[in-house]
Amino acid sequence: MSTLRVCSLYPELMNIYADRGNIAVLRARCEWRGLAFELSASSLGEVLDPGAADLFYMGGGQDRDQALVARDMVATKRDALHSAADRGAVVLAVCGGYQLLGHGYQMGDEELPGVGLADLRTVREPGERLIGNCAIEADLGSGPRVIAGFENHGGRTYLGAGERPLGRVLRGHGNNGKDGHEGVHRGNVIGTYLHGPLLPKNVWLADRLIELALGVELEPLDDRMEDAAHGSAKRAAGV
Ligand code: GLN
Repeated sequence: MSTLRVCSLYPELMNIYADRGNIAVLRARCEWRGLAFELSASSLGEVLDPGAADLFYMGGGQDRDQALVARDMVATKRDALHSAADRGAVVLAVCGGYQLLGHGYQMGDEELPGVGLADLRTVREPGERLIGNCAIEADLGSGPRVIAGFENHGGRTYLGAGERPLGRVLRGHGNNGKDGHEGVHRGNVIGTYLHGPLLPKNVWLADRLIELALGVELEPLDDRMEDAAHGSAKRAAGV
């Protein structure tokens, strides 16, 4: 029997907006299909084994929690995350976690370092936080689909030339409220601002991530409830 091994990064610090719901959905979608699910965690000061998981997950965080996490992640996890990504492991990072995937997060005079898994930079600019329901169109190799969620970030993220966004903004602000890009998608490394939590509102995405992490094709489930949740998230965003 296949096993999905998930490693949650800094789960006690990077978890605002109920991001732990994402892990619960991955577990349920595996177990309902008879796939085994193993969850581990790696936090402050802990060295990361790049081979220990098929999917590495990091949720959102307040600026102060990110400041605790950022330097530790560079020191104890950057190299392992690069080797995991190089061998095709999925890395899913939401909001504060997404910001730390890039080169850095500039907050006033302070620049938090990122792990450089994607060519992007995040800055605090004058202006309101970017808050609200958001919907994007994304294609993770199974055709264009809508991802709907809720965003709340002060940081604005800019992708380097040649870096691919996760999706195109249909409604909401996305990476910076200007260029119509949301998130990042490089190989199996995915970053997004969308909370919800993300996966309960978009179970197709949870399934796609499991497929990419394990190299399998999943059978559909009876998703009437999940499809209704997805529909209501889309309607809330106005698509
Ligand atoms: N602290 C970051 C910001 O405000 C990320 C917030 C979040 O994870 N919701 O930009």
